[in-house]
Amino acid sequence: MKVTDHLKNANGKTLFSFEIIPPKKGKNIQELYDNIDPLIEFNPPFIDVTTSREEYIYIDKEGLFDRKITRMRPGTLGICAAIKHKYEVDTIPHVLCGGFTKEETEYLLVDCHYLGIDNVMALRGDTMSHQKYFEPTKGGHNYATDLVQQINKLNKGQYLHDVVEVDNTPDFCIGVAGYPEKHIESPSLHSDLLRLKEKVDAGADYVVTQMFFDNQRYFEFVKRAREMGITVPIIPGIKPLAVEKHLQLLPQVFKIDLPEALIKEVNKCSSNAQIRQVGVEWTIQQSKELLDFGVPVLHYYSMGKSDNIKAIASQLF
Ligand code: FAD
Repeated sequence: MKVTDHLKNANGKTLFSFEIIPPKKGKNIQELYDNIDPLIEFNPPFIDVTTSREEYIYIDKEGLFDRKITRMRPGTLGICAAIKHKYEVDTIPHVLCGGFTKEETEYLLVDCHYLGIDNVMALRGDTMSHQKYFEPTKGGHNYATDLVQQINKLNKGQYLHDVVEVDNTPDFCIGVAGYPEKHIESPSLHSDLLRLKEKVDAGADYVVTQMFFDNQRYFEFVKRAREMGITVPIIPGIKPLAVEKHLQLLPQVFKIDLPEALIKEVNKCSSNAQIRQVGVEWTIQQSKELLDFGVPVLHYYSMGKSDNIKAIASQLF
């Protein structure tokens, strides 16, 4: 079922959902199931599965570096299919511009449709670790808007190289990313919101936000988006802070601010367990405020471990 239909059926009740990252290759899918199992009691109508593009690895061969390209994590679509059929929930594969030609994207979308996947999250993808700026793949898309356009055309039966007259054309519900504290490369929040409007005008049905730790950022973002004419649901993405390193890592990687009160609480801790507990308590308070605001979904970034998400959800759902 489409995310937008899940929201309609919820009749204003806030839903619980979460995102998982495919484990690095060499791991077993049982590990993923072990992390999903404890969250199923909170009835997630959908689960997002991220996609990581290929990476370059350098192998030291007696002082000469040999560059190899590898995919570090197993394929998102296979994981989506496995979870969808095991738990009977909708799964949402993240589809990227980076690392894929338009043809490869079309094959992926055809496979999604064949497997009964009704939603996709359309993203540009992160810059590769050895690059300073995002470089589009030859024959691929530059921006998420272009990808949304391709998906939207497919929804009308317009394939890249042919128009297929069949009853069973895909009808993907399309999610896109939004950034309450603006995207790292954007010159201003206003410019970034204009780009978000372009994604919605191109056919995006809903927005999921980047993580934020200060709800005021989300409230302000939603207000400005609405003023700009963005009317689709804006789902808050929330990540519980879990380790001390997050104090540096999250602002550095995602260009987000952490509230002083949260930093102070983390600095008081003398063990990792205490920091994890601070993250849980902060997220519960954050989530309660978002529930009062009437958000459609509380969407958690699980980052492969679900004990803290379970502790949070059990207080709210
Ligand atoms: P875009 O919407 O294309 O925007 C990228 C930048 O370009 C922005 O600064 C925007 O303002 C600007 N821009 C847009 N259009 C134009 C234009 N026409 N001209 C000039 N500038 C323009 N990354 C992954 O690799 N895998 C994942 O699974 C993944 N999941 C994510 C899930 C969520 C909810 C979020 C919020 C992010 C996720 N990301 C993921 C990270 C995302 O890929 C990066 O943040 C990426 O740098 C931007 O992606 P986007 O889709 O927002 O890009």
